[in-house]
Amino acid sequence: MLGNTIDFRRSLLRWYHTNRRDLPWRVAQKNPNSATPDSYKVLVSEAMLQQTQVATVIPYFNRFMASYPTLRDLARAKEQEILHLWQGLGYYSRARNLLGTAKILVEEKNGKIPASVEELVQLPGIGRYTAGAIASLAFEQRAPILDGNVIRVLSRLDLIRDDPKNPQTREKLWQRAEELLPQKRVGDFNSALMELGATICTPRAPKCLLCPVQKHCAALAAGLADQMPPPPARKIRPIERRWTLAIKNQNRWLIEQRPARGRWASMWQFITIEAEDKPPTAESLSQRIGLKLCDIQHLGALQHDLTHRRYQFEVLACRATVSKKPLPENRRWVGLDGLSDFPLPRPQLEVAQMISSIIRR
Ligand code: SF4
Repeated sequence: MLGNTIDFRRSLLRWYHTNRRDLPWRVAQKNPNSATPDSYKVLVSEAMLQQTQVATVIPYFNRFMASYPTLRDLARAKEQEILHLWQGLGYYSRARNLLGTAKILVEEKNGKIPASVEELVQLPGIGRYTAGAIASLAFEQRAPILDGNVIRVLSRLDLIRDDPKNPQTREKLWQRAEELLPQKRVGDFNSALMELGATICTPRAPKCLLCPVQKHCAALAAGLADQMPPPPARKIRPIERRWTLAIKNQNRWLIEQRPARGRWASMWQFITIEAEDKPPTAESLSQRIGLKLCDIQHLGALQHDLTHRRYQFEVLACRATVSKKPLPENRRWVGLDGLSDFPLPRPQLEVAQMISSIIRR
């Protein structure tokens, strides 16, 4: 347990004051006490930062703000535009939820982002952590936060040996995050805890010699700093095999829009179907996708790993004889240059790169 909470807060805040990174969603370093950050910037950045590192998020955040500088601008956006800006960042439900939140707030709350955790958690995609981050960072509400960084820092400070995924351990960590909160500078305190986890109390090789709260740390005292929290049990992730068809007719390629629900919902892809155990033939593929195909060639394979599963895409090039029937609403013929008009998930962008590098040879 921490010895002296007041000293702990003071040491952490003093360190944060001089060591914090200037990030585009924070108030500028030169005058950090002047104001709380813009709540819209906090909302967008917190959506982007879920499961994603700061360095990856920064360019996406800047492009997003340039396109949608206010909540009202965002509320007027089309889903395809948002998905396009989000392309490559992954976890696309975050983008759809952010758009849904903006629309609700403009239609029902006169464009105001609520300050309380209770109201924030009613909005799409906003859970307890994100609500706490928005309430504390943007509105100075005394709300705790618990993201991966904070879990690691608290587990080490208090030498909590239990798996933080366990609901009781998780609740204990929430309580600890709340107990530690000061009465003032709550936003800075929460940011400081996250910043400490991101830059000093890192998952591997924590920099304990540089740590502003080392004298409060039970894991350091026990010589167990880099063993806390215990690593999660390794899960076996099933491999899902897909055939992705790079179907060409003249200089255009066939793409289709994915269904409105599920993974990569409403984004676009080269025709992708479940792989079969037997090798693909022109006849079987033609039948499955409803288009006459010929000259099947194997272009290569791609692997795409997600948290709970892995995808393996076998990319097959083929030619199509376009039937006289019009294409279904969800399919288009496009040149490779025209692909940039459509939001594509990362593995499909890699398929496009594979095709264009083969064409250039
Ligand atoms: Fe983390 Fe080391 Fe600081 Fe403890 S002393 S909080 S393990 S960096």
